[in-house]
Amino acid sequence: MVTDDGTFEADFLVVALGADYDVDATPGLVEGGNEFYSVAGASALRDVLPRFERGAAIIGVTGKTFKCPPAPSETALLLDDYLAARGRREATEISLVMPFGTPIPPSPDTSRAILAAFAERGIKFVKDSLVRALDPGRKVAVLSDGAEMPYELFLGVPVHRVPEVVVESGLAADAYGWVPVNKKTLETNFPGVFAVGDVNGVGTPKAGVFAEGAARVVAAAIIAQLRGGPSPEAYKGAGSCYVEFGHNQVGRVDVDFLSGPKPTGTFQAASEALVREKAQFGASRLERWFGSQP
Ligand SMILES: Cc1cc2nc3c(=O)[nH]c(=O)nc-3n(C[C@H](O)[C@H](O)[C@H](O)COP(=O)(O)OP(=O)(O)OC[C@H]3O[C@@H](n4cnc5c(N)ncnc54)[C@H](O)[C@@H]3O)c2cc1C
Repeated sequence: MVTDDGTFEADFLVVALGADYDVDATPGLVEGGNEFYSVAGASALRDVLPRFERGAAIIGVTGKTFKCPPAPSETALLLDDYLAARGRREATEISLVMPFGTPIPPSPDTSRAILAAFAERGIKFVKDSLVRALDPGRKVAVLSDGAEMPYELFLGVPVHRVPEVVVESGLAADAYGWVPVNKKTLETNFPGVFAVGDVNGVGTPKAGVFAEGAARVVAAAIIAQLRGGPSPEAYKGAGSCYVEFGHNQVGRVDVDFLSGPKPTGTFQAASEALVREKAQFGASRLERWFGSQP
C-alpha cells in the first residue's frame, strides 16, 4: 500500500475508504442548491436555513445509491419541526424526491409509518424519481422523467462514487462499481484483501451499522487465520437503524439483507424511549472507539 507517509507491505489489507461525492454530476447543484451529506455542506446550512422564509423546499436524491436511505426522509421530518418552531411552516412547502417506491423498501411497516407522518405534516413524497439537474436561473429542479419542480430551498443528496484511488487500484471496475466482495467473508477478488463499509458492493445499504458488522466479521477472520482457529460465521448484513420522526420521537428498524432469500425489516414505532436508546447507542460507540463519553 502506497501512502504519502511511505509504502507498506501487508499480509492482509482491509479497504474501508468509504464513498466519495460527485457534486458535479448534477448540473446546477453547486450553484443553485445545497448538498447536506458532507460535513462542510451540512455546516453551511447553518447560515442558509434561517434565511428560508417562504416557498418550496425540496429534499432531493440525485443518485440511486446513497448513504443511509432513511436520512432524506428524516431530513424532511426535521425540517418540518424546524420551520414550525420558527413559525414559517404555513408559508412553506416540503417535498421529498426519492428513487424508491416507498421510503424504506425492505420494511413496509417503517415505510407506512413514515408516509403517515408525511401525510399528517403535509410533506409531499415524490417516489421513483431522481433529481437530474437544477436550473438556478429559473429555480427549478429537473427530475429523471423531465418533470420540473420549482424550489426556493434545495437540499440535495449528491451522487455517490467509488473513491478514485480504489478505482485506480483495480479493486473497482469504475466510479460506480462498488468493490465486488464475497458476501459471506467480505474478501475481494484479491486473496487477503477485504473491503468493508460504504466502499463495497455487498448489497447492504451504505450505513455505519453495516460497516461495523462487516468489520467485525473481517477482524474475526483475520484473527482466526493468524491463530489457526475456526472461521467466523458468515456476514449477515444485519443491523438496526434509528429513524428520526421529528416531534422528539425516534423509530427503529432492524434490517437483515443477507440471511434470507430477500431483505426483511422489523419496525418499532417512534417513541421518546427510542430517543434515549439512540443516544445510548451513539454513546456506546464513542466509548468503545475513543474511550470517552460525549
Ligand atoms: C446525513 C447522513 C446520515 C447518516 N445516518 C446514519 C445513521 O443514522 N446510521 C448509520 O448506520 N449510518 C448513517 N450514515 C451513514 C454512515 O455515515 C456511513 O455509512 C459510514 O460512515 C460508512 O463507514 P465507512 O467506514 O465505510 O466510511 P467513512 O465513515 O466515510 O470512512 C472512510 C474514511 O476513509 C478516509 N479516506 C478516504 N479516502 C482516503 C485516502 N485516499 N487516504 C486516506 N484516507 C482516506 C475518509 O477520510 C474517511 O475517514 C449517515 C450518513 C449521512 C451522510
